[in-house]
Amino acid sequence: MRSLARCPRGDAMHDHRKLGRELDLFDTNPLIGAGLPYWLPDGAAVRHTLEEYIRTAERRAGYRHVYSPVLGKRELYEISGHWSHYSDDMFPPMDVGGEQVVLRPSLCPHHAVIYRSRSHSYRELPLRMAELGGMYRSELSGVLGGLTRVRAIQLNDAHIFCTLEQVAEEAQAALEMIRQAYQALGITPTRYRLSLPGPGGKYVSAPEMWQRSTALLTDVLDRSGLPYEAAEGEAAFYGPKIDVQVTDGAGRESTLSTVQVDFHQPEQFNLHYIGADGAKHRPVMVHRSIIGSVERAVAHLIEQHGGAFPAWLAPTQLVVLPISEAEMSNAIGLARRCTDLGLRAEIAGPERGTLGARIREGRLVPYQAVIGAKEAANDHVALRLRDGRRLDPQAVGDVLTHIGALINAHSTDLWDSSTS
Ligand SMILES: [Zn+2]
Repeated sequence: MRSLARCPRGDAMHDHRKLGRELDLFDTNPLIGAGLPYWLPDGAAVRHTLEEYIRTAERRAGYRHVYSPVLGKRELYEISGHWSHYSDDMFPPMDVGGEQVVLRPSLCPHHAVIYRSRSHSYRELPLRMAELGGMYRSELSGVLGGLTRVRAIQLNDAHIFCTLEQVAEEAQAALEMIRQAYQALGITPTRYRLSLPGPGGKYVSAPEMWQRSTALLTDVLDRSGLPYEAAEGEAAFYGPKIDVQVTDGAGRESTLSTVQVDFHQPEQFNLHYIGADGAKHRPVMVHRSIIGSVERAVAHLIEQHGGAFPAWLAPTQLVVLPISEAEMSNAIGLARRCTDLGLRAEIAGPERGTLGARIREGRLVPYQAVIGAKEAANDHVALRLRDGRRLDPQAVGDVLTHIGALINAHSTDLWDSSTS
């Protein structure tokens, strides 16, 4: 077990499956099937916020988003190599009108075809194509559980089509995006791994290609100054990768983020760009994922934070606590203002018990806004923070401005006293 396997804040181990049900984030049902969880409104709010964070970060980093279908013809995966190297993990093909279509096991082939559908000049490179898209894995029912082993996966994926000279910079930039995302999410990586091929026939054989791509990624890691370990037998079938490993509450390690260099698929799909010399050249594909699958990322976040998500990600960001019925109209007004500002707020009124009971019930909510007679008269709130801090009553407008700024900045701080 590694040193980071313990839970943060010394809490007892969190199991995301148990917490996911208790907190009404997600669930499964035998009628829908094993490995096919559904997301309840609070879990969907977390997921939606996470997806929007990623899309925004990608747009800022020069990525453009596409949508592609979750099905493709069998031939598509024969060309990509999935059919011969990965079919054990794929659902069997479906016969439709004399053709065989497959639930896709990855987004790469679709993106390669999208790239190929238009001609590209070297001036367009690096061309960064991103998609939060569905893919499917035929996991055996015995290994399915919660959000970590699922059959339907929403992947934060992107492919950068670039020249050989651009690969290192793009891989480096992807590592920096991962660093920033982890900071916002409050995730600490366990280790960085350089994943290399191992013995056995599951890798495409092209020794020179493997050497070149491995040298590139090694150089990126060395220059990044990040400590890493090389691991044989962990590469993708088409190329080596940098994996960012995290550890769950039970000490199990898994890959969340990844950066891969691929010479294979550009070859298979006959991709090219027109160079400055007017001739056709082969681009390199960099595959990268900032948070991996949304399912695994949320599972990890639940366990890492014990359900107490960073404020920007919390399903309910602020709970309004009117002390008595007399403050109810102020409470409704505050909740309304929150909603208008894009904050997720709810009211826990006196019908839900004593103030103490309501405070305990909302213990995972980052902000609790208590309104008594005095606060109501002045348009003030007395704010309680999830970490136990209690602030003096302040004007509602000031509180909302302050919270809004922290949330927009994706801060993991609940309150920044220096600016209040
Ligand atoms: Zn890919």
